[in-house]
Amino acid sequence: MRLLLIEDEPKVANFIARGLRAEGWALDVAMDGEDGLTRATEVPYDLIILDLMLPVLSGTEVLRLLRARGIQTAIIILTARRAMGDKALHFDGGADDYITKPFDFEELLLRIRALLRRPRTTSSQLIKVGDLEIDRLSQNVRRGGRNISISGKEYWLLEYLATNRGRVLTRTMIMEKVWDESFEGLTNIVDVYIRHLRAKIDDGQSVKLIHTVRGMGYCLKTPDL
Ligand code: CA
Repeated sequence: MRLLLIEDEPKVANFIARGLRAEGWALDVAMDGEDGLTRATEVPYDLIILDLMLPVLSGTEVLRLLRARGIQTAIIILTARRAMGDKALHFDGGADDYITKPFDFEELLLRIRALLRRPRTTSSQLIKVGDLEIDRLSQNVRRGGRNISISGKEYWLLEYLATNRGRVLTRTMIMEKVWDESFEGLTNIVDVYIRHLRAKIDDGQSVKLIHTVRGMGYCLKTPDL
């Protein structure tokens, strides 16, 4: 089990880190919201403990961006803010649990164990990026409520981009995920399929979702990601 603690108060961070490592869990600590967001995006943690009042980027923003990027890791909010409005805001925003400071370490442990026991769907059935909707069960794709006919590699390419929304995917990453090692076709196959996808998803739309990142690859995102 690998956990991430995003907490800027060194005393609290050290106290929690010592206790959780004593349980045998691997724990990384981020001291500000931006560092926490980067780590949580790059590393597949089993659980995240998130403070709200953080430098650079607030815990509320970290939670919002992680969920907007489709990252489903269990998140426990750990904060001094006890108002029901704060709890509602963060539970509605995708938090799995909410603990107020001062807290009992034993209770934190119990809640972590309970969340780690819960089987997590690594990905939800419906992926939404802006007005783009992808149903992973039926493989139906809609943009702005309009059905888009898409199948085969185009679908898998779109799903791969959408589950990694906001992240730049290199041509190599896409090749390895969507095609396989036995593929011996065009070297520019990714670019060809991106072109097909753009024609279906972005043509005639004022907000483009598929972006080329020069020298790197491609990224599916809305303007606010
Ligand atoms: Ca804080």
